[in-house]
Amino acid sequence: MTDGRDATPRPQLECPFEKIHPSQLNRDDTFFMSLAYNQAIEAWRQDEVPIGAVIVHKGEIIAAAHNAVETLRDPTAHAEMLAITQAASHLGDWRLNECTLYVTKEPCPMCSGATIMSRLGRVVYAWGDPKMGCLGGAYPVHSLPRLNHRVEVVSGVLEEQCRAILQAYFAQKRAE
Ligand SMILES: [Zn+2]
Repeated sequence: MTDGRDATPRPQLECPFEKIHPSQLNRDDTFFMSLAYNQAIEAWRQDEVPIGAVIVHKGEIIAAAHNAVETLRDPTAHAEMLAITQAASHLGDWRLNECTLYVTKEPCPMCSGATIMSRLGRVVYAWGDPKMGCLGGAYPVHSLPRLNHRVEVVSGVLEEQCRAILQAYFAQKRAE
């Protein structure tokens, strides 16, 4: 996924984590988070910080992306930003009221802002980020008192796996 931007090919890396193959019969929050997790594995394989996101509209997956900051040499190329752009493009509408964003880590200030600007109906994240998370972890930007749009926020879905892959990636980077 490059969004037509100028991409720099990255070396293919082995990821020590395996993709989840969830049952299609139970398309609940855990199911969709599993697909976001699989995107995080794709990120690792491209030596990108392993964070993945998918966006679901009326039960259908309309966007799937992972961090691509290095590949695109773009500091805004976070999984959530790329997925939001894909979803708006798919729907032909920037308003994502009827969509749910699944992301493996709590969104940063930029991406939390984007969930508000795109009027996302619901955001589900795996693990909270006490340093940069702006949907409650470090700061609740979605609770600004004068906002008209209220995004529903759910956390803790597939938390252990999504935290483990990120921590392992950073541990490996530190060891290198
Ligand atoms: Zn972000």
